[in-house]
Amino acid sequence: MIPTKGTSPAAFHPVSAPDYVPAALLRELQLSRLESVVARAWERVPLYRTRMERHNLTPDDVRSLDDIAKLPFTVKADLRDTYPFGLFASPMEEIVRLHASSGTTGKPIVVAYTQPDVDVWTSVMVRSFAVCGLHQGDVIQNAYGYGLFTGGLGAHYGAEGLGATVIPISGGNTDRQIMVMRDFGVTAICCTPSYFLHMIDRAAELAIDLRALPLRVGVFGAEPWTGAMRERIENLTAIQAFDIYGLSEIIGPGVAVECPCQDGLHIFEDHFYPEIVDPASGAVLGAGEEGELVLTTLSKQAMPMIRYRTRDITAILPGACPCGRSLRRMKRISRRSDDMLIIRGVNVFPSQVEAALLEVEGTLPHYQIILTRSHGLDQMEVQVEVTSESFSDKIGALEQLNDTIADALEHVLGIRVEVTLVEPHTIQRSNGKARRVIDRRLQP
Ligand SMILES: [Zn+2]
Repeated sequence: MIPTKGTSPAAFHPVSAPDYVPAALLRELQLSRLESVVARAWERVPLYRTRMERHNLTPDDVRSLDDIAKLPFTVKADLRDTYPFGLFASPMEEIVRLHASSGTTGKPIVVAYTQPDVDVWTSVMVRSFAVCGLHQGDVIQNAYGYGLFTGGLGAHYGAEGLGATVIPISGGNTDRQIMVMRDFGVTAICCTPSYFLHMIDRAAELAIDLRALPLRVGVFGAEPWTGAMRERIENLTAIQAFDIYGLSEIIGPGVAVECPCQDGLHIFEDHFYPEIVDPASGAVLGAGEEGELVLTTLSKQAMPMIRYRTRDITAILPGACPCGRSLRRMKRISRRSDDMLIIRGVNVFPSQVEAALLEVEGTLPHYQIILTRSHGLDQMEVQVEVTSESFSDKIGALEQLNDTIADALEHVLGIRVEVTLVEPHTIQRSNGKARRVIDRRLQP
């Protein structure tokens, strides 16, 4: 074990035992769980059965872990197309929780949990916190949003399951966050990394020295972030910043987490089987090769996901981690294979912007999204070309149009963005196509 800040002997919580199961045993467990989940999906979810039949497959064709590659993929559109409950494999009486997240077409995607599913989710979140060196006695400020989003409740149950003290503060109200952090003896913070940077800036303005507080661990996720950002966070505070990964379609947060070695995220592969595939061909790639992460839930009852394409680009890291965990590691996610943008933890698709603009008279379907980061917070500006007639209107009329567009975007995206109206043909195009997104957030 490498001694680093953020860890203590108490980090070896008994709940972490599955992290160290010998690889051969782990593979046996994965295979038996894979057989069960494929059989369950086949028996209970028409979409899986139809697709497997189209490939002349039955659950009996899965006899080894490598056989998983024979199974058809599942994609996000499958969740939309079967909205709301079409992929459920449990009757509603057995479902104890529903969550939902935004999709491209206005309809959310819905995910479901039985009580055993919630228990698995809690256990992987407990293990995640334990990996980050947290234990009973820690005071965890949970600034992930509570609600339909899985982040808040996932972290909440995990923190309680660990035996720590959880403060369910949810997101927003930065001054109150800082007051609570200082007054309640907070030792760990959970939120998006960009929001934490915002808290750091605000604390400095309030002349509160975060280094003087007992705060020592940050568990950051729900958006891609870089090593440079980690460095900045760790340099400005006395914490060790951990990257946690998850997605609602699979379970929520708690699919994978960094250990104190901070060299890749350990995947809780006793519950989530990872593959890396070529995003174009779908061919399975080997260790070390970069491609799209595909996950299969091995124990999920209410909504099994078979070979779900996450669109996240990463690689399985070869070799063992010095921490001793047998769970394989993946590289930190820095980009996605589709065009989804994550703005302040909220999923935004350029196609949503387009759809909103098309609802407003006087605009042309030419727009550009410019993303920047100011004081740690994502800023999204939408430049919109308006018709020549609109542009020759009085200033007051233009201002009104600006407000109408901002309202329409807020309605669709769920966040307020800055709107700038520009003359026709102002937005640069190459080969007739406008560049929809200019992301300057990761620029130094
Ligand atoms: Zn490790």
